[in-house]
Amino acid sequence: MADDIRFNRKLDLAPGVVEEIVPGVRRILVDNPSPFTFKGTLSYIVGRGKVAIIDPGPLDGKHIDTLLDAVRGETVTHIVITHTHRDHSPAAAAVKAATGAPTYGEGPHRAARPLHIGETKRLDAGGDTDFVPDRRIAQGDVIEGDGWALEAIATPGHTANHMAYALRGTDVLFSGDHVMGWSTSIVAPPDGAMSDYMASLERLAARPETVYLAGHGDVIRDAPAFVAQYIRHRLGREASILHRLGKGEADIPDLVRAIYIGLDPRLAGAAGLSTLAHLEDLVARGLVVTDGPASIVGRYRLAVVPPR
Ligand SMILES: [Zn+2]
Repeated sequence: MADDIRFNRKLDLAPGVVEEIVPGVRRILVDNPSPFTFKGTLSYIVGRGKVAIIDPGPLDGKHIDTLLDAVRGETVTHIVITHTHRDHSPAAAAVKAATGAPTYGEGPHRAARPLHIGETKRLDAGGDTDFVPDRRIAQGDVIEGDGWALEAIATPGHTANHMAYALRGTDVLFSGDHVMGWSTSIVAPPDGAMSDYMASLERLAARPETVYLAGHGDVIRDAPAFVAQYIRHRLGREASILHRLGKGEADIPDLVRAIYIGLDPRLAGAAGLSTLAHLEDLVARGLVVTDGPASIVGRYRLAVVPPR
């Protein structure tokens, strides 16, 4: 299933090394590898002299020291957040304390929809609920720095507050966890929402940038083709769910077994939530029905389309 996307599972970068990856942009890998973070989170430094830091990363003292060392002799004027997951935003507080730079982001962490009865924060374990941006930004806002400017592109779906940033006057876009070269993005309710996620992919598909710098994994150098593969992959997964439901009612474990072949068992929970994200979207569109709101424990069947 995942083979329809040409992933790049190489990243030739050791944790803590500062590397200029495209002109005017440096990157540093956090030493936090996992099945969810690949080799680790990437923090980016934009500009020279007066710089922005994009996604300072998790609460990891060693990484924060490396990041501050990398900008020694320079001035950090902006701390910019793509989204409030714990591997991206928590270090903002320490970097702000050390530099005095204000933080920029769409807003605090929030769910994409109200929680259902019985649905707990358990699903939300990755959220950084402490981060509150000093400056809230919206779709189309431009963050102006000294010799650089970042255009904010609202890309909800992975989280409700996810923002991508285009580096003005270049071919480069910071895609956060919305589009990553090593893997698909996790869209897990209630943080994530599939209808938003697909609309955000279409938003990027309409843009001209060809080089994406993601929150995890190496540079994506053929971004429009890659985004098209991402969209096709999601539509394919949706078709697989509808195909399985065409054979009869199913719950989420049934669907995960049917559509995720060779799944890493550590990702089973994420696969279940991703399937729930598709089902929420399909129920909202009237193609699938369930009893009550779409939930992780629900049973699902195809909607009966009345004959015309
Ligand atoms: Zn994330």
